[in-house]
Amino acid sequence: GTAPQPPTTHAAGSGAVDWARIRADFPLLTRQVHGKPLVYLDSANTGQKPAAVIEAVDDFYRQHNANVSRAVHALGSEATEAYEGARRKLARFLNVRSDELVLCSGTTFAINLVAYSWALPRLQPGDAIVLTRMEHHANIVPWQLVAERTGAVLKVANLDERGDLDLEHLYSLLTPEVKLLAFTHVSNVLGTVNPVREICRQARKRGITTLVDGSQAAPHLALDVAALGCDFYALTGHKMAGPTGTGVLWARPEHLKAMPPFLGGGEMIREVSFEGTVFNDAPHKFEAGTPNIAGFVGLGAAVDYLGAIGMDNIAAREQALLDYATAALEKVPGVRIFGKAREKAAVISFLVEGAHAHDLATLLDLEGVAVRSGHHCAHPLMHHFGVPATCRASFAFYNTFEEIDVFVAALGKVRNLLA
Ligand code: PLP
Repeated sequence: GTAPQPPTTHAAGSGAVDWARIRADFPLLTRQVHGKPLVYLDSANTGQKPAAVIEAVDDFYRQHNANVSRAVHALGSEATEAYEGARRKLARFLNVRSDELVLCSGTTFAINLVAYSWALPRLQPGDAIVLTRMEHHANIVPWQLVAERTGAVLKVANLDERGDLDLEHLYSLLTPEVKLLAFTHVSNVLGTVNPVREICRQARKRGITTLVDGSQAAPHLALDVAALGCDFYALTGHKMAGPTGTGVLWARPEHLKAMPPFLGGGEMIREVSFEGTVFNDAPHKFEAGTPNIAGFVGLGAAVDYLGAIGMDNIAAREQALLDYATAALEKVPGVRIFGKAREKAAVISFLVEGAHAHDLATLLDLEGVAVRSGHHCAHPLMHHFGVPATCRASFAFYNTFEEIDVFVAALGKVRNLLA
């Protein structure tokens, strides 16, 4: 193939990963901000990119740039091969078939595609959609729009005090009028890892279709999407070392076959006439217009990169960072941590008594520490905890224990300023 390949320098699955060497793959992490070394703790928002991804995008534009699926010239077939090669890499990474993957701009697009193409033609007054209180707005608002247009209603599953789903409540909502259960694999605010397989099994038993928002799971866990038992799985490339504007919808082939196109245009057709148009097969039927070709070349390089480190190694590294940071934060007086789920990804939402989240984040930034503050696109979850906003520190495998020390020391200093 002509798709650029990243150097595979890290042995897959080996327990002894040289994390310092891996960190050195990320050019941006050597930056300073406000005269301090950057401590980037906002990877749940968007992840930093290794040189292999940046170079793959650069190489595509320098050497292979052309449109896909159109031209017979050499560059046209190189670009098509690079784009379709990325689809195959993503399929291997997720353990699904590549013709079951719709490439799109991100989770938001993927969920909207299901909302408009699957749900809108099917739902009727009297039907229901079940969500959970920990959803990102991207997995709430499209369903509100569908509900408004179809007359269906939304029902919301509760959380317990730890930030785990109240499964008993969730299952009690799964009544015969429910047509869809849409829920997140991992919470972007609390880090809660939901028991996706069991939830999907319960839904399937009742004939309910499931959509899983995998945005926060794909960067951190070894995924076997086929084994999860869901109907739809959505994810976004920029949180998993890939470029912005890339994402994937996996769907069971019977859904892809039955769903009408969402957007019309080039690439998604086989034959167009004013008497009637014949659509291309899935997944191309859902990929109207020129896609983010270079972006997917970069995302292909990203999954090569993550796969070479090994997702199990990444998960173990991030768990160690999370445990270390949680223990250190709990020692800072006045710190309240939101979410202590049984299984938790490397995300800590917190507040310091007497301080506003934005003030904390602004002062931490002056110390070089980047955390997110705000509602994290999860208003209903903020209501659940009775706060308008939190600070969130999120960790990736390229972070270090020393950075956590810097963060916690900075928080102590900031706390003294604000208290
Ligand atoms: N769902 C969750 C859980 C997220 O964390 C995000 C990211 O912000 C999204 C959906 C939306 O992803 P994107 O903005 O890339 O479409």
